[in-house]
Amino acid sequence: MNEWCELDKKHFIHPTSSIQQQQEKGPKVIMESGEGIYLKDIHGKTYMDAMSSLWNVHIGHGREELAIAAAEQMKTLAFSSAFSTFSHKPGIKLAEKIASLAPENLNAVFFTSGGSESNDTAIKLVHHYWRIQNRPNRRKIIALKRSYHGVAAASTSATGIPEFWDMAGTTIEGFSHAASTYRSNTESAISALREKIEAEGPETVGAFIAEPVQGAGGVLIPPEGYFKEIRNLCDEYGILFVADEVITGFGRTGRMFGIENWNTVPDMITFAKGVTSGYAPLGGVLVSDAIHEVFKLKSKGTLFHGFTYSGHPTAAAVALKNLDIIESEGLVDHSHRMGKKLLKGFKKLKDEINIVGDVRAVGLLGAVELVKNSETNEKFPQDLKVAPRVIEALHERGVICRAVTYEGIDIICFAPPLIINEGQIDELLTKLEESILEVKNDLVV
Ligand code: PLP
Repeated sequence: MNEWCELDKKHFIHPTSSIQQQQEKGPKVIMESGEGIYLKDIHGKTYMDAMSSLWNVHIGHGREELAIAAAEQMKTLAFSSAFSTFSHKPGIKLAEKIASLAPENLNAVFFTSGGSESNDTAIKLVHHYWRIQNRPNRRKIIALKRSYHGVAAASTSATGIPEFWDMAGTTIEGFSHAASTYRSNTESAISALREKIEAEGPETVGAFIAEPVQGAGGVLIPPEGYFKEIRNLCDEYGILFVADEVITGFGRTGRMFGIENWNTVPDMITFAKGVTSGYAPLGGVLVSDAIHEVFKLKSKGTLFHGFTYSGHPTAAAVALKNLDIIESEGLVDHSHRMGKKLLKGFKKLKDEINIVGDVRAVGLLGAVELVKNSETNEKFPQDLKVAPRVIEALHERGVICRAVTYEGIDIICFAPPLIINEGQIDELLTKLEESILEVKNDLVV
């Protein structure tokens, strides 16, 4: 471990890490292999990957079919360009496949290599759309507070978690954030958005972007009816609605796309993560037929936007095999069923342990909040670090979850691989209960 640790400290700058802490301690875990919902570190300790790593390993680890799909594609055509007038079969097949899975009106795809690129692409496409519609002033983008849309220039600015703006000390002009439904309701969230649109000037707003379920913000699930109201409001003001399905896409919420839980159809969908289950980097933006028509009719000259790896043939072949597995193994319905079981277990914990506050799940995307008083939702003092301690206790028991803490709120997030079975959900719930009780007992002492 020491040798790996030292090399890591010397050369590896980790994403979203404390560089200082990393220099002192090095990585906590160095993973070596994975199978199903489990990961194994270099000492042979096994962990249940209850976050699907970064909410993305939908079909679980170690699936040989994907390795074979990648190897076969690499042997045939590892890479060739999709720029301009060039194309290739895996890219074409994948675009067609994703269009067939998406809501009916979304049939054209622009490929990227991940979620941040997808959201930046969507925002540039929004700007392009309004420019060619002779409405160049519609440049503003409204997002939600506590949303996460990525770390490229526009997606950082769209993100509603201020810590992400700190690194560069600023964000791009023209982005603002409205309150979500968290600790609130549809009515106030919709009026907050209406006020924001009015304050910005409706004629200057190009799009509203939101995650169907806010993931990094703490798995914040909107109430029934919220997105229908969002759709109506966007239509009323002629604003495009972009659904960021980077976490919620491809079965995570028990539906193929998260927004389908609320019977709402957006103008664009951004995706990444689960489209390949992380076996290759790939993302994209699905655009509606209406927008695609405008592009076809009015977009003159070259669309000066594209990544070397847009539609990467090997990544596309991996995505196709991954989507094939999601469909043939019925993982979307399975996610729905297992999500119900998970939520039932969370509710039981809430009934039995007085520091368990709100619990929620939609498909296999869930959260448990920890509070000082579950009647009033009174928070623990922030310096007690209750959620991080529970995460640590889970880690000791070989379970990887994620804590979200802000403004004194303690949330434990869950997003296990969609292949998780009933016995493994019981294992997760048992270890969660033990971990919460351990921390609770510690707090009393
Ligand atoms: N959008 C959402 C909702 C995400 O959760 C993420 C990543 O977690 C992103 C966008 C950014 O994706 P990536 O990290 O692939 O750039």
